[in-house]
Amino acid sequence: MLARTYCAGLEGVDGYLITVEADVRRGLPGLTVVGRASGAVGEARERVRNALAHCGHEIRPRKQVVNLAPADRRKDSPGIDLSMAVALLACHEVVPTAPLDKLMLWGELGLDGVVRPAVGALIVADFARRAGFEAIAVPRDSADEAALCPGLRVLPVDDLPALVAHLRGEVPIAAHTRTEPEEAEGWGPDMADVQSQAAGRLAVEVMAAGGHNLLLHGPPGVGKTMLARRAVGLLPALAGDDALEVTKLHSLRGSRAPTSLRRRPPVRMPHHTVSSAGLLGGGQPARPGEVSLAHCGLLFLDELPEFARACTEGMREPIEDGEVSLVRANYSLRFPARFQLMAAMNPCPCGYLGHPQRQCTCSSAAVQRYQARLSGPLLDRIDLVVPMAPPRALDGGPQEGTAEIRARISVARARQRERLRGTSHRNNAEIPTDGGAIESLCPLDDDGRSLLSKLTAARMLSPRARDRMRRVATTLVDLQRPGEPVEAPIGRREIAIAASLRRLPNMQQGA
Ligand SMILES: [Zn+2]
Repeated sequence: MLARTYCAGLEGVDGYLITVEADVRRGLPGLTVVGRASGAVGEARERVRNALAHCGHEIRPRKQVVNLAPADRRKDSPGIDLSMAVALLACHEVVPTAPLDKLMLWGELGLDGVVRPAVGALIVADFARRAGFEAIAVPRDSADEAALCPGLRVLPVDDLPALVAHLRGEVPIAAHTRTEPEEAEGWGPDMADVQSQAAGRLAVEVMAAGGHNLLLHGPPGVGKTMLARRAVGLLPALAGDDALEVTKLHSLRGSRAPTSLRRRPPVRMPHHTVSSAGLLGGGQPARPGEVSLAHCGLLFLDELPEFARACTEGMREPIEDGEVSLVRANYSLRFPARFQLMAAMNPCPCGYLGHPQRQCTCSSAAVQRYQARLSGPLLDRIDLVVPMAPPRALDGGPQEGTAEIRARISVARARQRERLRGTSHRNNAEIPTDGGAIESLCPLDDDGRSLLSKLTAARMLSPRARDRMRRVATTLVDLQRPGEPVEAPIGRREIAIAASLRRLPNMQQGA
């Protein structure tokens, strides 16, 4: 007799349906698995065979065949074990087939029939819900994770005999209700701690408000990392699909399964020795890299020129498209990677070029080589390039805290939603620099226009660089003139500030 069960394969942060068909016939006893199973699923054969022996029911020796469909896709997760075992048990008529139609099965089997967590329970549960399944059976330790998807009954399973008893209607398993609390509010260290860094403070506020990318440069110890740790607290909380997607991405990398939805935007700070697979994603099976773990949050790259060229070049795609595509021998898939880039660098290898008190010891050739490591195309995607200098003296006055700045940013974000309604852009930074959009969405008054053209000539700005400045000026209007209509034109003042927020380390302003 033929029996069918369902489970899912993982592809990026999405699942796809795997139908498990099992057949039992007369013939030489054994278990054959067909349908492009990878090594990991090949081992599943052994685990399933042993687990069946511990299912609490007598299984007569027969020739058993399991087919995993569709055959053209790889199945490389041990989470497929449970569906294989249940399909075989249905063939042997140990469990009825009727309850299996609307049930997704996900879990790895131990040799003794214990059901163990496998990476991806949240992704499989979300897929099951969207595909119209009514329930999902998962290992008890994954139940909180699977239950993050609303509208799906989650059956926590301890071992194979317990699931068999449930399917036979002998000992029903109660649907799981979540026990973990929601993630607490709170935004990490506070902006009030950052003293006397007016330019840096303004830069992160504009970055967070308008979705712009930011490069800070200055000598070591001026507080670039300190600002980065606080900047993430200025980003909007994750809501709806973003929260689910970010939680899914982290569930693929975390050592601990998620027990609540991510509400805080993530901040990732990979070291400059990170490999391109670590930064962009890869591995077998595919895992998201830092750019994806920073999805909807902040990616902070300290000492940007020290990163391998393959890394900085590879970041162009996610910065442009908001996702990263991974093509390997065994797979080709995409992970979301819509992050805000915040980078920092020293002005030269020793760090003290232009320092008021300390002497730079680098040769001019070394300085040039160092600064040339920033690729033009990457710089092209960074709207804000801001110098930070060592503070002259601490003024000690109280600084605005995260909560106050967040309130201003939230108004600025609302203004952008209104301005960009009907377009595909989410914020000012996404307004394209080519075409007429900038002219209609970022209007200038006469003084603003005349200062912008003067600056363009004096700094030999490219049209793109000029338009980037205009986008930043629009964010400044949103932050600093919140009472005015969103169509209010950019004035001279915003252009002047925007110009101060783009100063490359080598004073070569034209890029
Ligand atoms: Zn130096």
